[in-house]
Amino acid sequence: MEFDAVNQILLGMSHQLARSLEKDGYESMGIGPEASIGDYARLKGDFSHKHSAVLCGLGTFGVNNLLVTPKHRSRVRLASVITTAPLVYDELLPVSACDQCQQCVHQCPSGALDQWEEHYSHRTGWTINKEKCAHYIFVTNAGKRCGICVKACPQ
Ligand code: SF4
Ligand code: SF4
Repeated sequence: MEFDAVNQILLGMSHQLARSLEKDGYESMGIGPEASIGDYARLKGDFSHKHSAVLCGLGTFGVNNLLVTPKHRSRVRLASVITTAPLVYDELLPVSACDQCQQCVHQCPSGALDQWEEHYSHRTGWTINKEKCAHYIFVTNAGKRCGICVKACPQ
């Protein structure tokens, strides 16, 4: 329930910000954080908040393929606004915020993060085994969100 509530709040905020920018004359579009993993056909969203956040200097990808920020680690949820407004943005983080401790890999109950060594990049992330992750959440866990790889990331 909290998951859906936070999604609604972030969706509303992204649209409010976009409308505010448009009043100032800049074309803008808000994109909410809806759980696109629920799309079983693709297991992929239309827009990557995580790649956008890395390019905006908020953090880097972790081995868990989530955004890892220096302050809040992976305990963040994202919405985005695409706009023509000129913005000041942070530089890319010079080093990875993930120290590759592998806690997320060891604690993942589905094995979805196995074989990360061959594919992981802190700039672009990697394609985890989404089918294993989705099966655990929607079949084994009966639709209850997992989030162990979020919690595992040490402060
Ligand atoms: S959400 Fe759960 S099953 Fe999916 S990758 Fe993270 S720890 Fe593994
Ligand atoms: S748990 Fe460790 S390996 Fe996984 S993303 Fe966090 S810092 Fe990186």
